[in-house]
Amino acid sequence: MSNSLLINAAELLRRPGSERRFTLEPTIAELGIVDSRFEPDTAVVIDLRLESLTDGIVVDGQLRAPWAGACRRCLAAAVGEVVCDVDELYQHVVTASDAFEIVGDQIDLARMVRENVLLDAPLAPLCRPDCAGLCPTCGIDLNTAACDCVSTVADPRWDALSQLKANLPEQ
Ligand SMILES: [Zn+2]
Ligand SMILES: [Zn+2]
Repeated sequence: MSNSLLINAAELLRRPGSERRFTLEPTIAELGIVDSRFEPDTAVVIDLRLESLTDGIVVDGQLRAPWAGACRRCLAAAVGEVVCDVDELYQHVVTASDAFEIVGDQIDLARMVRENVLLDAPLAPLCRPDCAGLCPTCGIDLNTAACDCVSTVADPRWDALSQLKANLPEQ
């Protein structure tokens, strides 16, 4: 089981101010992501730019990964794509609190990608932004059907009752 995604940065580190762009498409499993929202064999598109500084390497760009889950309102299948813009720092000697470590002359993208993708994945997904959900009383899917439960609130009988109360003489 391989949980690392190593990039050789020796050349970048030799020449501060130089940069390199690349695209990688490892699978969720190769990145060591174990999460029900992501299929293990789905590719994560990693599109990054590496730029060397005197004390590290800036890694910025975009990560994209499709997710799938159950809608929090109606429980139907919900799918989407995590798209996260990243701007991270790798250092030989980690001085910045949120920097990742350069080991040897290699940077390991796996942990950085894992953390960003999981952070951006929806905790409570929706099948669509305006999903009507299930009726809390009878459980019918209000996206495809209607029920009488909701109208109970505006039941004319209650109007009659409140009318009656209003007409009662004060004691
Ligand atoms: Zn829904
Ligand atoms: Zn109902």
